[in-house]
Amino acid sequence: MKHIPIIPVPIEETELALFEERRKIYPRSQKGWFSSWRWVLVFFTQLMFYGTAWLNWNGRQAVLFDLTTRKFYIFGLVFWPQDFIYLAVLLVISALTLFLFTAVAGRLFCGYACPQTVYTEIFLWIEKKIEGERPARMKLDAAPLSARKFSLKFSKHTAWIVFALWTGFTFVGYFTPIHQLASEVTSLTLGPWETFWLLFYGFATYGNAGWMREQVCKYMCPYARFQSAMFDKDTLIVTYDTERGEPRGARNKKIDYKASGLGSCVDCSICVQVCPTGIDIRNGLQYECIACGACIDGCDQVMDKMGYARGLIRYTTEHALNRKLDSKAMWQRVFRLRTLIYSGILGLIILLTALSLAYHLPLKVDVIRDRGMPKVTEAGAIENVYKLQVMNTQEVPRRYSVAVKGADGALILNNVDISVTAASTTAFPVRVRIPAAALQPGSNRIRFVVKDLDSPDITVTEKAVFIMPR
Ligand code: SF4
Ligand code: SF4
Repeated sequence: MKHIPIIPVPIEETELALFEERRKIYPRSQKGWFSSWRWVLVFFTQLMFYGTAWLNWNGRQAVLFDLTTRKFYIFGLVFWPQDFIYLAVLLVISALTLFLFTAVAGRLFCGYACPQTVYTEIFLWIEKKIEGERPARMKLDAAPLSARKFSLKFSKHTAWIVFALWTGFTFVGYFTPIHQLASEVTSLTLGPWETFWLLFYGFATYGNAGWMREQVCKYMCPYARFQSAMFDKDTLIVTYDTERGEPRGARNKKIDYKASGLGSCVDCSICVQVCPTGIDIRNGLQYECIACGACIDGCDQVMDKMGYARGLIRYTTEHALNRKLDSKAMWQRVFRLRTLIYSGILGLIILLTALSLAYHLPLKVDVIRDRGMPKVTEAGAIENVYKLQVMNTQEVPRRYSVAVKGADGALILNNVDISVTAASTTAFPVRVRIPAAALQPGSNRIRFVVKDLDSPDITVTEKAVFIMPR
């Protein structure tokens, strides 16, 4: 066999970075319809977040998640650990709402209501107020350190930190009464857990909205990754109309650009400069796009200046774009079977939850039978002892009566007209005597009926077992 010599081939060494190098983004300010709506949402969500914590209801904080007493107060409602089902329902409603919005309008939530977007918008606003517009910020960052640069950067970070700490304080104020928290902060007597969470939440806000910004959306947010599974060709997305825009190129406003073989895009790059995630929407739909609409506003203004029709970049669907559907046909397809099913399920769950809350009885009863042996009386009757736990979920004291049903001659031996203070639980023993002839030997079902003496329509019946000796 002939020996074939192996000739070594030189391998060219190429060094590849494991991570893409971050390119700092300096979004240009943009005015327009979508930008106004974004600010409306910023004001609305922040007013809700910072304002609600200070509202009072019935002499207490209106919204308070009191973990120490394990009671959640939401205006007139008090939720106990037993109401965990409502938390599960809330999560289901949130998930379905997100599915619905994503199927209809893509990442609408990301662009307008996500806390990351909202805080980034606020932090950017502070940055612009202190460092100036996009060119000034770029120039400042490129310049060597000077007294002016130091003072601008110092002012910006101080403002960011103050705002972030205020956000952390408000967050903790939903778990510790906010007035008490405020006096603890001012008197420097804040507890270790409150201090930890205030600083943790404040630091997270500062880091995410001040430093990481679009990196959170691009690399950390799981929703950005799985939202494409909820998209289809009838989902509204921010799209560049390639057919109308290409070939792009600079031109004189006065020329007939169509006759010159050009499309509507003047290649001004405004759409890229205003983009908070720094992408070029003309390259097609990208997962980094948070559907904020800033590029639509920017491009529309360019179109206005050029005297061209608006909408070179617009919210539309893939089907509408490819099949040239008019807006009526497009909207008919947006509200398709899938979105109608989501809406139907969502509406039904919300309706059932609202009904359940409306008819939610402010009284809960638990019965536990004492494990001791039943007592046989001289008269031949049998006694069983129970522990009744009565929970008054109203924020006023209530009085209750207890009766036992399910056997002839059944009676309660001790006094069971009880009072329970506001939003609290009382446990007490109940001795039940039943004539031996009234029930079969073994386990028998009886019922305890607990009635609110001030509102007799508030009545709870709870089953229990009565042991009759054999
Ligand atoms: S803003 Fe409009 S015209 Fe300007 S580059 Fe973007 S798509 Fe083209
Ligand atoms: S491409 Fe347009 S809609 Fe998408 S994130 Fe950038 S500016 Fe917002």
